[in-house]
Amino acid sequence: MNIDNSVSIVGCGISGIFAALELKKSGIENIKLFDKSRGLGGRLATRRANEGKFDHGIQYIRLDGISHLPEIEDLIKNNILIETKVPDLFVGYDGMTSIAKFLAKDLDIYKEFKLLSISDGPDSMEMSFENGEKINTDSLILSSPIKQSIEILERSSVKISQPKLESIKKLEYYPTIIVMVESESPINLNNEFFTECSEGFFSSITDNFIKGISKKENFYTLVCSHDFSSKNFEKDYDYINSHLQAELNIMFKGEYNILSNHKWRYSTPKDFYLPDDSLQISSNSFIGMCGDIFTNGKFDGAIKSGISVAKKLLIE
Ligand SMILES: Cc1cc2nc3c(=O)[nH]c(=O)nc-3n(C[C@H](O)[C@H](O)[C@H](O)COP(=O)(O)OP(=O)(O)OC[C@H]3O[C@@H](n4cnc5c(N)ncnc54)[C@H](O)[C@@H]3O)c2cc1C
Repeated sequence: MNIDNSVSIVGCGISGIFAALELKKSGIENIKLFDKSRGLGGRLATRRANEGKFDHGIQYIRLDGISHLPEIEDLIKNNILIETKVPDLFVGYDGMTSIAKFLAKDLDIYKEFKLLSISDGPDSMEMSFENGEKINTDSLILSSPIKQSIEILERSSVKISQPKLESIKKLEYYPTIIVMVESESPINLNNEFFTECSEGFFSSITDNFIKGISKKENFYTLVCSHDFSSKNFEKDYDYINSHLQAELNIMFKGEYNILSNHKWRYSTPKDFYLPDDSLQISSNSFIGMCGDIFTNGKFDGAIKSGISVAKKLLIE
């Protein structure tokens, strides 16, 4: 590609951020990242409540195949990414969002820019955002969860490969409901920060104090099982929390407060795109897609996918 061309990246999750960093390393200057949210990081998500903190998306990180990347070395050197007492398991020192914030500090980011559609103009593509803004771009990378990227493409008037679109339409994600609890006293998790639950409505519980991200004790993130989350995803939080009450009462001996909930409609992929780590769906003007569904549904895989789509654009 011509290094003076403009590139737009939709989604400031870890895959979009790594796509941007890879392009920057190759001399591309005109890169803009857009995210529909007020923050950045996507599923690298941390929330404050009552002077404590919860990670309510990704819980821990493995560096399989990415530990050699300079950005990862930099995160470790700057104590943003910390190894836990479980060897090879890493967390964000100040919560998972801090990883995204550190990596994206020199990137050109537009928050609360939800991309609705794209159209072909005479020289470049025009992106239309929910806030009424219209911005032109020569190339586009969609790093939003694939269902959201497909919605954008289906509302758009750009020429894309229909067989490729069909091949990704059948991919699905699990929805996940999160419950953030402050309890009166600590519960016994054998001094581990993360514990998987083998039965009941929850699949895991994280102690955010032992994890080191909450300076206040007794802050727990509970991840509901795929089964519970799927059945109750459309219900309101009052209904959901009342169904969890009996189990929470046993776990916390009746002394707890639910401080917050979160719903991830696209939490972890059920199916994966197998042919490659990313996808180029239009070649008229470059439109590429990346994200964790193209690899393994995890942090390391999302990074590999972001790098992969950037490399596809660079050889255009
Ligand atoms: C509860 C939970 C627990 C997890 N636990 C782990 C774990 O322990 N270990 C692990 O490795 N992985 C875990 N994961 C998975 C991990 O979080 C993801 O693999 C990774 O963060 C995905 O990054 P991404 O960049 O592909 O997508 P995302 O982080 O989803 O980023 C996509 C971004 O696109 C934005 N976006 C969407 N639509 C638009 C639009 N129209 N316009 C603009 N922006 C848009 C979103 O706001 C979002 O910021 C977990 C995920 C969840 C939800």
